[in-house]
Amino acid sequence: MGSPPSASLKQNNLIFLVFIMILFFCSMPDKANLCSNQSSVNPSVVPYKSSSNISSLETLQLDGYFSFDHIDYAAKDFGNRYHFLPLAVLHPKSVSDISNTIKHIFKMGSPSKLTVAARGHSHSLQGQAQAHQGIVINMESLQGPEMQIHTGELPYVDASGGDLWINILHETLKHGLAPKSWTDYLHLTVGGTLSNAGISGQAFKHGPQINNIYQLEVVTGKGEVVTCTEKQNAELFYSVLGGLGQFGIITRARISLEPAPKMVKWIRVLYDEFSKFSNDQERLISSKDSFDYIEGLVIINRTGLLNNWRSSFNPKDPLQASRFISEGKTLYCLEIAKYFSPDESDIMNQVRLAQRTLQNTS
Ligand SMILES: Cc1cc2nc3c(=O)[nH]c(=O)nc-3n(C[C@H](O)[C@H](O)[C@H](O)COP(=O)(O)OP(=O)(O)OC[C@H]3O[C@@H](n4cnc5c(N)ncnc54)[C@H](O)[C@@H]3O)c2cc1C
Repeated sequence: MGSPPSASLKQNNLIFLVFIMILFFCSMPDKANLCSNQSSVNPSVVPYKSSSNISSLETLQLDGYFSFDHIDYAAKDFGNRYHFLPLAVLHPKSVSDISNTIKHIFKMGSPSKLTVAARGHSHSLQGQAQAHQGIVINMESLQGPEMQIHTGELPYVDASGGDLWINILHETLKHGLAPKSWTDYLHLTVGGTLSNAGISGQAFKHGPQINNIYQLEVVTGKGEVVTCTEKQNAELFYSVLGGLGQFGIITRARISLEPAPKMVKWIRVLYDEFSKFSNDQERLISSKDSFDYIEGLVIINRTGLLNNWRSSFNPKDPLQASRFISEGKTLYCLEIAKYFSPDESDIMNQVRLAQRTLQNTS
């Protein structure tokens, strides 16, 4: 007796799925030749230097340059667990330096075994921005075209993939503008966070940073320089955003801006019960026009809450942080902010009211 149609359909689907997965995994090395992921490589292996690869790279005419020596720093990241020494570091001065290098490596083909990884500020953790015996592209040395700010109804900034967010903040503030979505820490590059997501307390309102990009310029795995948006070369656009550096090198991004807040009221509320903390957080996130920034943190109170740089509470705080002396206990903190202009005094009354309500529940 044959299997029922739904069972055989399921079986066919399963075979098809397995087949697609095999195809996908087989095609990964070629697709991801742009960036290495070297999970099987032993970091303690002493690297060899392929002289033919070096001499081949030295023939390239560049605005910037390659370093072949003293490049140990490119084998480090914030996690400090993976150390893959590259063959060379490219310090590009122009987008064509990146494009010409990748074109050259693509033409050399697989015998060269060269992989490429873009390196932003190297604040990722698992060797993501490293390339074992490959080429690391030091994105922070990419110079120009200069950051350009467009004011108007839909303001935006065109910034390099190697620009730090802190510099974008300083430049856009000169025009009274600022990006809508941030990370907490701003010494990270545009390309680095857009390859992940870029999440902070504004994400509940505007989405992560990758939701606030109008346009990208990308150097593909073949070395082509391609402009992409959600309508033009959309597949590349959505692959590169959040693509962990595997689908192309972001050389330029058009980032949406909004008027920068003139003043901000910053409030932190501590909880020792998770359910109260998460109820308040959900309530604030779902209520319309509540706050402009909402972020929750978990604090393991090992060293004392006061004067701890992570919690940044100090004895002068009006709230009773000392009430939470709780050696080793897990605490929860809601960090919220309201943007306002000095003339909006009623907003401050609303904030005080909300603060009192939250403190009563915590
Ligand atoms: C102290 C600290 C605070 C942090 N805070 C936050 C936070 O609040 N919110 C948050 O979301 N994340 C946060 N992160 C994580 C951080 O956003 C990511 O690790 C981010 O990738 C780091 O950016 P980077 O410039 O250092 O990138 P790198 O670590 O250099 O690179 C990360 C990845 O992006 C790729 N890449 C880099 N540049 C490009 C480019 N131009 N084109 C294509 N691919 C590229 C790399 O190849 C690599 O795969 C934090 C990390 C640290 C260490």
